[in-house]
Formats: sequence, C-alpha cells, structure tokens
Amino acid sequence: MTPDTLDVPKHVAELRAAQPDWEALGVRGRVRWVRRYADWLLDNADRITEILASEGGKPLVEAKIEFAVPVDIIKYYARNAEKYLRPNHPAPPNLLNRAKRVTVTHRPYPVVAVITPWNFPLGLSLMDSIPALLAGAAVVVKPAPATPGAVRAAVEGWAEIGAPPVFSVIAEGDDAGRALVEEADYIQFTGSTEVGRKIAQRCGERLIPYGLELGGKDPAIVLADADLDHAARGIAWGALANAGQMCTSVERVYVLDTVHDEFLAKLTAHVRGLRRDSDVGPLVTEDQFALVSGQLDDARAAGARVMVGGGTDPERRWIEPTVLAEVDSTMACVCAETFGPLIPVIRVSSEDEAVAAANATDYGLSASIWTSDRRHGAHLAARLEAGAVNINDAHANIFYFTAPMDGWKNSGMGGRLGGAAGILKYTRPQTVTKPRVSVSYQRHLLWYPYTRKRTELVGRLLRALAATGRRRLG
Ligand code: NAD
Repeated sequence: MTPDTLDVPKHVAELRAAQPDWEALGVRGRVRWVRRYADWLLDNADRITEILASEGGKPLVEAKIEFAVPVDIIKYYARNAEKYLRPNHPAPPNLLNRAKRVTVTHRPYPVVAVITPWNFPLGLSLMDSIPALLAGAAVVVKPAPATPGAVRAAVEGWAEIGAPPVFSVIAEGDDAGRALVEEADYIQFTGSTEVGRKIAQRCGERLIPYGLELGGKDPAIVLADADLDHAARGIAWGALANAGQMCTSVERVYVLDTVHDEFLAKLTAHVRGLRRDSDVGPLVTEDQFALVSGQLDDARAAGARVMVGGGTDPERRWIEPTVLAEVDSTMACVCAETFGPLIPVIRVSSEDEAVAAANATDYGLSASIWTSDRRHGAHLAARLEAGAVNINDAHANIFYFTAPMDGWKNSGMGGRLGGAAGILKYTRPQTVTKPRVSVSYQRHLLWYPYTRKRTELVGRLLRALAATGRRRLG
C-alpha cells in the first residue's frame, strides 16, 4: 500500500480498519504471514540490497549486513512471538482473591508508526515494524526523505505475498512524520535528539506511548593493558563503519597516557590503509557532509593535528577517514554528535579521568572499553552512563538482539529489541477477571448495602489478611 497522493489521516484510518482482523488471526496466523514475508525478502535480497547500497552510497557488504540482520530478527521474533505474547494467569495475591480466575492478555496498540532516519533506512524500519506486526498492530513506516527506496521496495513485498493490508510505507517528508504523530497510537522513532524531543512532547499531549532511539557520542576507553593492535582495528571499525553514520559510532577515544602514542601510531597506520568506497563510503546527505566537514575545519583551526585523512570531496560528499590528535573537549568533534568519519583521540592520565570525560556528555547510548583484564573492564563498565558497554569490541550489543538496546540520557527512551520486551512494548496488558464459582449478589461482601455487620466482617477479614502475627489480628 503506497499512497500516491498523501492523506495521512485517511491512510491511518484504513490501517485502523484492517487491524482488528489481523489481531483476530491470532499469533500463529500472524507468524505464518511474517514467515512468508521473510522468505520473500530473502528471494529479493539482491535487488533490495543494491537499492540500499546505491541510495546511501554504502559499501555493498554493509548493505548486505543491514539486510541480513533484520531478517534474522524477523525469524527470531517469529519463533518466539507465541511464547512472549502468551496470556498469563497471575497468582491471587491473597485468600479472598482465590474466588477469581484472572487472565492477562497482551493487546496491541492498533496503529504503530515507525519513523526512521537515513543511515540504516531498511534495517531500522524492519526491525521495529515486524515485532509490532507480530504483536497484532497495523504498522506504517515513514523512512527519511533521502533514502526511501529500499524501504519502499521491501514493504511492497508484504502486498505481493497477499498478506492483509496492515503494513504500509509513507515515503514522504518531515510533514508526513508530524502527521503520523497526530494519528497513530504508538510512535517508534529513530533519529535526532532534537526531533525526538518534539515527538515526545506531542505524544505527551496526546497521552500516547512512544519509543525513542536518538543520537549518541559514544566514547571508547583504551586502558594501559589493552592489546593495542586489536584496539586500533576495533576502534577504527567502530568509528568508520557506515562512514561513521551510526548512532553507536565511536566518536571519542580516551587513551591512557602510557600507551597513547603507540595506540595513536597503530590507529593512524590502520586507517591509512583503508580504501575509499569499498571500506568507507561517502556521507549520505549534503547536510551531513557540511556538518562533518565543518567540525573538521573547526578542529583544525583550533589546533587539532590531523594524523591521517583530512581530505574532502564535496561533489561526492566524501570525507577521508580522519584521525585527529591534540583535540580538547571544547571542540565540536569532541563535544557534539559528529555522525561521520572523524576519530578524535584524547590523552588521559588515569582511568578516573577517562570515566569522568566519557560521562561528560548529555548522550548515553553506548561505550567501549579496551583492556586485557575483562573482569576489570566489566567493573569499569558499571561506572559508565550508557545503555550498553562493549568490552574489546564496538557495536557488538546491537547485533545481540535478545538484549535491550536502550539509550540513556538524551540518547533515547523506551529502547528497542531485548527479547520479550521488544514485542511486548507494542501491546497493552488487558486483565480479565471471572468468578471461579457463581456467587449470588446477596453474598457479595463488597456490594451495597453497607450494613454494619458486613462492614465489621470485611474489616476483620482484611485485617486478618494483612496481619503477620496474632497480636495484630485485633
Ligand atoms: P531526523 O531526526 O532529522 O529524522 C528522522 C526521521 O524523522 C525522518 O524520517 C524525518 O523525516 C522524520 N521527522 C523529521 N521531523 C519530524 C517531526 N517533527 N515529526 C515526526 N517525524 C519527523 O534524523 P536523521 O537526520 O534522519 O538521522 C540522524 C540521526 O539519527 C542522528 O542523530 C543519529 O544519531 C540518529 N540515529 C539513532 C539511532 C539509534 O538507534 N539510537 C540509529 C540511527 C540513527
């Protein structure tokens, strides 16, 4: 379903009308459609990954990873949806409540809007949409205007397999995003902190729930005992994959004084060997090119040393992978989100200084620690203000989708994935109570009339339930 002329309220109304039948299919029925859809995606993998690589300029291997990860997530949720959505029967909290049989079901928010950015248009759109569909919601995706092609091609497959009309795409601009925030029942947003905050405000006014995955300024801490070859390669990949346009990109590297020079030399040498396009592609948009090259110019002007890289090609939105030394915390490349291929390296004299500097940001998405002592690394992780900490690796948590991805501070709210949490977030619990045996109205203790005798009896009963010792039985 791709509307030619956009009428967001009408579009959402159509999804809303189709959703009850989708929910009524039950989890098994929905799983069957989602499995068929995953097969369709695999059958169309080459075509979709080519669109993805060409519209964003990313290396084909990165497009393939972006395609493969959500398909894996789809299969995972298809396997586990029934278990996660199974109704449950909470135990009675006390004797009086034994008269009831209670069932809690997980009922979907009818229409979920998934609004995504341009850096991982396909991956983010699918990994948020499919759990919502399995939960029984209808889903509309709104990709970023710069990269609508792969998402549009992928969502077309839903109609092609003949699935119910509960999954659609609105490949339009920011206005369509704003309109969806007015119409949908749940907003799952990935993008900038600035827009996320506006969405949260509007959702607050409408009293609808939302999940926000926002920006980051992820620190890496290289300890004195780190394997420096491993750290240099891991941090280069952590900072430069997808040309640094990842929310979890390494954007600041704090290195203990004793190993700083050796690490910097190794990182510089490794980055020098990377190839244009096949390892690191261009930036996706002109705005992003202007932002990142502006940060590079500012850092240079303020005295930063370019160890490698520093070249730019505005026509192709290309910025050479760049290692910067002698930077300080006043420079934008250290204190503001970059989202591009710059790696500022900062010398610190102690672990305490590294931790304090790493935490000195409004963001808190993820972080990495590089050390030979993994136990110490885990200990240090507990001092970092970040939703995830990877030891001796970068981005690792985002592939481990049974664990939650949850930004702290200005990096998000509500998170994504995380096993059962990743699907239950699209549902509301509904509690249904029913009597185990029929009780006539005359014997119902809590109903009118409030006679003195009944009041006394109820008082005694409740006191007996609450009392822990004979003395308090009253
Ligand atoms: P953006 O916030 O400008 O736009 C994201 C999406 O929101 C687009 O589809 C856009 O059209 C839409 N939009 C814009 N204004 C809107 C409004 N007022 N209401 C509703 N929708 C609106 O972000 P971007 O520039 O496309 O992406 C880059 C940002 O995304 C970076 O800050 C990056 O860190 C973040 N990001 C975060 C994660 C994460 O998981 N935490 C992942 C990827 C990207």
